[in-house]
Amino acid sequence: MKRLRVVVKVGSSSLVGADGGVEAGRLGLVAHEAASLRASGAEVLLVSSGAVAAGLAPLGLRPGAVTVAERQAAAAVGQGRLVEAYREAFLPLGIEVAQVLLSRAELEHPSRVRHLRAALGALLRHGAMPIVNENDTVAADELKIGDNDTLAALLAVVAGADLLVLLTDIDGFYDQDPRRASGAQRIDVVEAWTPELQAAAGRPGSGVGTGGMRTKLSAARIATAAGVDTVIARTERGVLRRVLEGEGVGTRFRAHPDPGPRHQVWLRYGARPRGRLILDDGAAQAVQERQASLLLPGIKDCRGAFQAGDVVELATTADRVIARGTAMLGAQDLMRWLAQQDRPARRAVRVVQHRTMVMAGREPGDGLEQG
Ligand code: GLU
Repeated sequence: MKRLRVVVKVGSSSLVGADGGVEAGRLGLVAHEAASLRASGAEVLLVSSGAVAAGLAPLGLRPGAVTVAERQAAAAVGQGRLVEAYREAFLPLGIEVAQVLLSRAELEHPSRVRHLRAALGALLRHGAMPIVNENDTVAADELKIGDNDTLAALLAVVAGADLLVLLTDIDGFYDQDPRRASGAQRIDVVEAWTPELQAAAGRPGSGVGTGGMRTKLSAARIATAAGVDTVIARTERGVLRRVLEGEGVGTRFRAHPDPGPRHQVWLRYGARPRGRLILDDGAAQAVQERQASLLLPGIKDCRGAFQAGDVVELATTADRVIARGTAMLGAQDLMRWLAQQDRPARRAVRVVQHRTMVMAGREPGDGLEQG
């Protein structure tokens, strides 16, 4: 029987004590929880924050008063300490830990995703507990995912997880900020995406935003689109068992009843297009009306230095992006074809996602908005 695969993400707030450093007791609770989830038969991937928090004090830095470079430095010191603390916590439970550090690059390119998936599969088969974090020391600017809620959701998508659990210091998702509004109510189950939900998550920089509900909501959005149930719950003893048994714990975002193929969800949220092809009107119409492949004669122009296998955007002559697909030829080969008058009806791009599909669950900032 296929084992349930669960991605559990734990935020810094669940690990850090009053002095701002990672507390062994709190981390021990997380390890205990993950180990008992595994003992119940599930495969567990643990995404843990806390590297920066664990590295501040050893460098004599104070939270809130650090430069970007100091944050990177703190992560370098803290990540080692964090994994060492997990190793100490898991060893008595008979579990070997494995450090997995990711940046956007590992999640955005098809071949890297394949390698990552294979490595995670091998770790799980051999009984190790992957402890995943963003490689904060080197992941900067566009290489950066930026938050572990999104990282955990993308990981759940590419690793074929069945469930994503976001553990935090609040026992679920509320209709208003519970730290500000005394009448705030926890939402137990979310089955549909509404504007009210987005509003309840707060704006970035608001109390809830920095508490991370906004990134959690968007993580739930990504995971549920791929058919992964997502639960936001408080880090406490027994929480994962209760989540698994379906007891009313935290907020459960139900997986989309008819999720698209995971590849499409990845393509929308994880992949970074490496180029853009401009289509003639006929080809643009074909791509929009049906999930057609794009043939050489339908291409008018091409931009970017992509290779075969890379993700590319497909756009109209007005430069409006209408789809994404996987290039079957690299940019150089394609340019050579484009220079010829007569081109064979050879497939140039496998169209994987077109705009009408995207519109159904449209969200700002997914790169398919233009026009
Ligand atoms: N990767 C960061 C760390 O380990 C945390 C990112 C987040 O809080 O989402 O400190």
